[in-house]
Amino acid sequence: MTFTVEDLQTILDEITLAVTALPAEGEVACYIPQLAEVDPDQFGIAVALADGQIFHAGDAQTLFSIQSISKVFTTTIALRKFGDDIWKRVGREPSGDPFNSIVQLEMECGKPRNPFINAGAITIADTIMEGRTPDELMEEILQFIREIAHDDSIQIDKKVAESELKTGDRNASLAHFMASFGLFENAVDDVLWAYFNHCSITMTCEQLAKAALFLVSDGLDKSCGVNVVSEKRARRINSLMMMCGHYDGSGEFAFRVGLPGKSGVGGGIMAVVPGKASIAVWSPRLDKVGNSYLGTLALEMLTQRTGWSVFGH
Ligand code: GLN
Repeated sequence: MTFTVEDLQTILDEITLAVTALPAEGEVACYIPQLAEVDPDQFGIAVALADGQIFHAGDAQTLFSIQSISKVFTTTIALRKFGDDIWKRVGREPSGDPFNSIVQLEMECGKPRNPFINAGAITIADTIMEGRTPDELMEEILQFIREIAHDDSIQIDKKVAESELKTGDRNASLAHFMASFGLFENAVDDVLWAYFNHCSITMTCEQLAKAALFLVSDGLDKSCGVNVVSEKRARRINSLMMMCGHYDGSGEFAFRVGLPGKSGVGGGIMAVVPGKASIAVWSPRLDKVGNSYLGTLALEMLTQRTGWSVFGH
């Protein structure tokens, strides 16, 4: 593969031109009414190299709802606080079911299969709440993301959080069902409110690519020499993203893109090329399992052009 960093801007520009010229396919997430108001035909992509250089194209500086991508950050916080104890409460197997599925919870006595499906992320929110209010927990989550992205402007879109609360019957039923096994340490409504809020954080592709850089460099934030997590944990977070980051589309994503990645129903995808780069891509139209249609396609094109893959070199 003859790819040099000098080519990267051209590659991103060409991918942006190619995918935005395609006939529109997929739908925006309508089950959260506020997300349905987003212009569906936007597209942005940003690449942060391990040395901190950033390249971007399209709508890479437009804020969008990171949704389930936030689950990578809350899982990282949980690992920092409780280490391997978190695996007593969530598993680390792909679910093979939709992100909001309830079916496996009954067979597994309320223990979600992984931290990236809704039930798993709600459990992680309960784990890291530690008796505090949702606002206090949100302050901690926001602070963490601002630190790793080196950007204090990152905020929550409260309209999206309210919209999720109003239409959140499925998530409420998942939470109450898990709580019925006596597994929750905090009030279910508080945990849900924290969960809806962290899903409603808004970021740009550029901010998101920067925030993922610690996963590129074995847990180290190279810009300041701080270890966000240990090398072992960074690798494990990447493995979770690889196996579970796209719900029941995780196999397809690994097959087509070949990188650890985490998607959200806002249309974002954050992907990691260990040792080399982090990538954030965003386009609101989703495929039938809830992953960005053009985002996946763009990542597939980018990995073909660069040779980036965890399955070869
Ligand atoms: N907040 C969304 C939900 O709870 C997150 C889902 C997603 O991004 N896949 O349904």
